[in-house]
Amino acid sequence: MAATMTPENSLSLPEKRQRYSEGDDNHDGGTKKMAQSVVKKPRRDPAEALASARHEFGEHGGVNMSIEASATFTVMEPETMSRMFKGELGPDRDFFIYSRHFNPTVLNLGRAMAALEATEAAYCTASGLSAISSVLLQLCPSGSHIVASPHLYGGTHALLSSFLPRSCNITTTFVDILKPDVVRAAFKPNTRVLIFETISNPTLVVADVAQLSSIAREFGASTVVDNTFAPMIVSPVSLGADVVVHSLTKYASGCADLIAGAVCGPEKLINSMMDVNEGALMLLGPSMDPKVAFEIAGRLPHLGLRMREHCRRALIYATRMRELGLKVIYPGLPDHPQHSLLKQMANEGYGFGGVLCVDMETVERANRLMHFLQNCTQFGLIAVSLGYYETLMSCSGSSTSSEISPEEREKVGLSPGLVRMSIGYSGSLEQRWAQFQSAINRIKQEEQKRPAALLTS
Ligand SMILES: *Cc1c(COP(=O)(O)O)cnc(C)c1O
Repeated sequence: MAATMTPENSLSLPEKRQRYSEGDDNHDGGTKKMAQSVVKKPRRDPAEALASARHEFGEHGGVNMSIEASATFTVMEPETMSRMFKGELGPDRDFFIYSRHFNPTVLNLGRAMAALEATEAAYCTASGLSAISSVLLQLCPSGSHIVASPHLYGGTHALLSSFLPRSCNITTTFVDILKPDVVRAAFKPNTRVLIFETISNPTLVVADVAQLSSIAREFGASTVVDNTFAPMIVSPVSLGADVVVHSLTKYASGCADLIAGAVCGPEKLINSMMDVNEGALMLLGPSMDPKVAFEIAGRLPHLGLRMREHCRRALIYATRMRELGLKVIYPGLPDHPQHSLLKQMANEGYGFGGVLCVDMETVERANRLMHFLQNCTQFGLIAVSLGYYETLMSCSGSSTSSEISPEEREKVGLSPGLVRMSIGYSGSLEQRWAQFQSAINRIKQEEQKRPAALLTS
């Protein structure tokens, strides 16, 4: 089956009604086109692109789209079924078969993600990691090779270093993406993919998307960018990348209440992932629940506002933490090695990301700081993940990046005392800052009193 979907020009609900009342197009249906297609230009604002994408109305004219909570779909005539399976009728004409294949609500969220990331198409998945694993399996046959940044989310790192070689005979070479010559030298004739994160988790290394994408293109490989840390801020495909993957669990959700992912890329790739014989999404089945798709679709319109505030507070806190003498890593600080690169790549007005790291040098000091920040001053919560409205803090080396070996962690500059903070926006900026300062003062007092205790506890 070669069911196709064309996100921008897929037909709206009135077309579906025509199936039932042939020739009667005199209704104004449940779906209206608010504005026409997204124009792809180099430095476009993702918020404007989102607002220009097709707005889906509910079945009864509701301002929100309906949730199509059906596993299966009925047809008026039995012949229609075989035409759908032959690929003659597909979601682009509002014909749906089964929700592990295309589901209308999930497809609508995909349209929004495609608009946001300036890709031809997008489809959403049950998790960020399923988006990543599915797209890699789609692009890489058995025996092929991947070039990857070592600065990757722990799960992605484990997928590339352990799971894919063991189960699929797909091997990966990890290279320093800051050195173009080293990256170029890692490509082999069977290299299919170059993968990296826009702003890396947790070390906040910023990738030169345009440069890396052009290297991959020289070797005929696809560039896959994990943009989880930089939605709205950077649009990798506008800079030359082929595919963008997201953990929608983080900023897109913003509420830490669900797990979700997205693959944004060329229409041909997205359709191939749904193919009944060859498609990784169709056959591995990490389907997004339409109820989850509905939830996230309602949150994307304020993603831009939220990102601005996450970033604004992160920059102010990073600056002030530095003034307190703390070792801070944040791409918004002028001395971050890729500060000017990010400034040049970023879409206007969003900032430099909502995550900052404080290097406390040892796990013990990192844990002390997090203890005070959570249990004494209520600055944030000790938890993995990011993009929540509350500040979340974790010690990466012993949590989300513990899949990466200690030697590898040292090589990529992941200090054992690195506290990653996803800066929230609840409360006021000054209220939260006072809480941070008071925790730091507690630590200082303690260290003056019992300097040895901290080293041994
Ligand atoms: C969390 C995360 C993932 C994994 O996403 P899930 O939704 O948890 O599956 C992938 N990449 C990055 C950068 C992440 O932060």
